[in-house]
Amino acid sequence: MTATPQQLADVLRPVKHVLLDFDGPVCSVFAGLPAPEVARRLREGLFATGEQAPAGAAEETDPLALLRLVSNARPDLAASADAALAALESEAVRVGRPTPGGESVLAACVRFGRAVSVVSNNASAAIDAYLSAHRLSGYVAGVFGRTAGDPSSMKPNPRLLLEPMAAAGTQPAECVFIGDATRDVEAGNAARVPTIGYANKPGKQEKLASAGAVVTVDSMQLPPLLPW
Ligand SMILES: [Mg+2]
Repeated sequence: MTATPQQLADVLRPVKHVLLDFDGPVCSVFAGLPAPEVARRLREGLFATGEQAPAGAAEETDPLALLRLVSNARPDLAASADAALAALESEAVRVGRPTPGGESVLAACVRFGRAVSVVSNNASAAIDAYLSAHRLSGYVAGVFGRTAGDPSSMKPNPRLLLEPMAAAGTQPAECVFIGDATRDVEAGNAARVPTIGYANKPGKQEKLASAGAVVTVDSMQLPPLLPW
């Protein structure tokens, strides 16, 4: 069930540092350049005609899953695959769709003196490009994208959450993570940070809740509910 305003306020009240997933809570990265098209272009750029791609690569339509698959099967390609995907993500965000309420959450955090760090499996360069194009960079204390060439850095690994907490000197109990995937909740659990599940598609609410999200919401239009 979507959190009541009271439940959400209870979760947010002690928070000094908001960790915010990018694809979903801030924008829909692949709304204009669809993920399967990005995966296809990534694959075609990496594997010349006739060259054998790793098992499963031909069918993979999720660009980040494809990056992980290729990097695991062909470590020699990990760096070039990451760079190629980062370029495609940067192209995608130019035609990405802002999430209603996402910008207001960023602005409200800053207005009320809460730090915001973006924590994402996407490439930092693409995130920076989006934030800059939408004049949002000033709201964000830091951008923590996947480590280039190292897909093991991606959530559900908690590393991308631990880095901004170390940079800001904040403890898990002073933080909240807002994400829209079960891997986000798993990363939050591993970092001991409570996760608000953003259920932006039918069926996600149950998945996020059973993964351990402390509350779930079905909209990013939170500012009227912020307790600060
Ligand atoms: Mg996401």
